[in-house]
Amino acid sequence: MSTPCIITVAITGSVPTKKDNPAVPISVAEQVESTHASYEAGAALVHVHVRKDDGTTTSDPERFGRFLEGVRKHCPGMITQFSTGGRSGAGRERGAMLSLGPDMASLATGSVNFPTRVYENSPDLVDWLAAEMLRHGIKPEIEAFDLSMIFQAVAMQKVGKIERPLHVQFVMGVKNAMPVDREVFEFYVRTLRRLAPDATWTGAGIGRDQLTLVRWSLELGGHCRTGLEDNVRLDRETLAPSNAALVRQAVAQCADFDRRPATVKEARQLLSLPMVRSPCCRTARRSSILKAALSATFWFATAIRCRRARSCCGWIRPAAKLPTRATGSSLRSRNRWRRGCSRSATWPIPSRSRPMSLS
Ligand code: ZN
Repeated sequence: MSTPCIITVAITGSVPTKKDNPAVPISVAEQVESTHASYEAGAALVHVHVRKDDGTTTSDPERFGRFLEGVRKHCPGMITQFSTGGRSGAGRERGAMLSLGPDMASLATGSVNFPTRVYENSPDLVDWLAAEMLRHGIKPEIEAFDLSMIFQAVAMQKVGKIERPLHVQFVMGVKNAMPVDREVFEFYVRTLRRLAPDATWTGAGIGRDQLTLVRWSLELGGHCRTGLEDNVRLDRETLAPSNAALVRQAVAQCADFDRRPATVKEARQLLSLPMVRSPCCRTARRSSILKAALSATFWFATAIRCRRARSCCGWIRPAAKLPTRATGSSLRSRNRWRRGCSRSATWPIPSRSRPMSLS
């Protein structure tokens, strides 16, 4: 049986507007609704940029947080991937929302020319974004706009800046960057297999080449990406009515290559992601360990105090004998004993990590 294909839906991006296609989701509510429809259609991973109300790009963590909350609620298990792309902020602002703990985030490991500007990713910024992802337990998706970015990702993995296994997305068809070229694409795939045999990969094409890259990826055993971020049309004459329609188009292609769309569970297994992503796994784990250590320390300190005071909790001295008759001073004494023990009995047990408040 061939490997199921993880279908990524890139719902919004930072370029298309409602003038290009009224179906481009802009508000967080529209984005969650569009993601849910895509999830129902067969997408297992959502890649997202957020926009301000006027449609301009932003890296506002509050908007990312509301989106994450909506997707976790309405699309159980779906893999969430935040964009750290350069259009939505400058410098470290691009990673300000990583502490929210999505499953994945995009990481371009080098700079490249875009249609009207340089997509600038200095080595310092790339290292910082990778470190933030490592810190928050987020798997990077390496955005490879050319060959050097694949080599850079492998080099970063070797020194521990990125955890293995790598997941790389080959991006083709961006004006002034790598054109859509089958031989180069096959060379990318061969090179990645040679340098990082356990890596997974996705092909992404822009505009009319979206479908080309979906086909090539399905044919060569990779995963594919669709969505209004990269392409607003179903074909030359028809605007895509929704992200879900583009997902259905990709799903229909799967059968031609004896592939099928991966479920969210399969997608998580293929990408070595946990089945349930609690917010900020590592931070929560560290905080649980800290709480447990503090509790244990306090428990031992209390036990030592109790032993010295010869009482159950160190603050009730005459507890050598539990009063047996409920009369007069014995009742008061028993109540004091109970108060002492109840405090001990309700000693806080290290709580499991609570979901992070996203509001
Ligand atoms: Zn993007």
